[in-house]
Amino acid sequence: MRIPHTRFMLFAALALLFVSGCAVNPVTGRQELALFSISASQEVKLGQEAFPKAVQQMGGEYDDPTLAAYVNGVGSRLAKVAERPELPYEFKVLNDSTPNAFALPGGFVAITRGLLVNLENEAQLAAVLGHEIGHVTARDSVQGMQRGALLNLGLSVLSAATGSSGYGTLTQQAGQLAAGLLDNSFSREQERQADRLGVDYMVRAGYNPRGSVQLQEFFYRTVEGGAEPMWLTGLFRTHPFSKERMQDLRAYIAERYLLQQNDPRFIFNEQPFQRAIADLKKTSEGYELYDKAREQEAGGDVSGAIATYLQAAVKAPDQALILTRLGMAYLHAGDVRAARPHLVRAVQLDDGYYLSRLGLGMVYLELDDVPGAVGHLEKSMDLLPTDRGGYLLALGYEKQGRTAEAIDLYRQVAKASPDSKVGQAAAQKVAELQSR
Ligand code: ZN
Repeated sequence: MRIPHTRFMLFAALALLFVSGCAVNPVTGRQELALFSISASQEVKLGQEAFPKAVQQMGGEYDDPTLAAYVNGVGSRLAKVAERPELPYEFKVLNDSTPNAFALPGGFVAITRGLLVNLENEAQLAAVLGHEIGHVTARDSVQGMQRGALLNLGLSVLSAATGSSGYGTLTQQAGQLAAGLLDNSFSREQERQADRLGVDYMVRAGYNPRGSVQLQEFFYRTVEGGAEPMWLTGLFRTHPFSKERMQDLRAYIAERYLLQQNDPRFIFNEQPFQRAIADLKKTSEGYELYDKAREQEAGGDVSGAIATYLQAAVKAPDQALILTRLGMAYLHAGDVRAARPHLVRAVQLDDGYYLSRLGLGMVYLELDDVPGAVGHLEKSMDLLPTDRGGYLLALGYEKQGRTAEAIDLYRQVAKASPDSKVGQAAAQKVAELQSR
């Protein structure tokens, strides 16, 4: 999607340029060369706005409150002993099969279900989270922004009024910023530094530093064994892995933490970890089927996909994400009545995921329950603005006789993605409604 270049944004950019200069990096102590400098409070604001959108873009939160509390506990224990303990850290588990982890500016950290299920103990989890905290304390993604990448987006998010929602405003820009930050990969030097910082935090928090070596050995075996596409599109794309990185980490631990790695007071906590992921493991088989169904659907085999989603829903019952995709596949096949109960159930289980709301909005539009449709589509757009959601919501407004709102929204969709089918359909609608 394109970013609107308004005069207001230009003023915001100029205003911020005046306060630019050099900031001291909290980890390296070095001066940061920057086009403009993002203050700690601006950094937190960027993360706060972008994090919920990033969570939506990656399957939403995985619904297991005990596991969520456990992961947040391990993360907080590390954050307390890091360089910037005052940041409002959050650690979330995302419902995504792709093994991945990321950190947004300001201390917003996430690990996917797909990575968590591959770990063996708490020290390995601490290694993942410690590494991500290292990117936060070293301000790695902020530095990227300050040098110009994502500059406009960051500025518009910072200058946008808070509390606004819908399309073409803060919500939309925060969504784009989240996508941009998720796509950001780090340099080899930044990765090495995050590895070392992560180990420092582990040791300070009482974890055995060998947990981080175990983790990298596991990554190494995965790469050597010909990593599956999911690893390549996930963790290994944004955090490039290499044998040198593993050897470098081993040498660092041997030099600095020789005593700690053989001291039983520095823990691995295998059993608490295994207990925490026990329920997650039970759903693995269902999610493997779910992954297979998504591939089938992407390859055009919609009826095959529906059959596999149904199997997945039997193996892992009451998983909102599986039911959402099952419902969407039925919609894909044009079967609105079959889609409905699965999407209704998905929203009952988790009312905070944009896609199930979008699907249910489509169902109600088809069934001519326009107020029902508009309610779900507005919620979907608040959670994560999408072209499709915007178009459907405009259609709902149009059916309700709210022509001015419909034109406004169609126009924004057309402007946001002029080259897509949805964008072109929206442009057509604007022309039609205006000629009436
Ligand atoms: Zn990294």
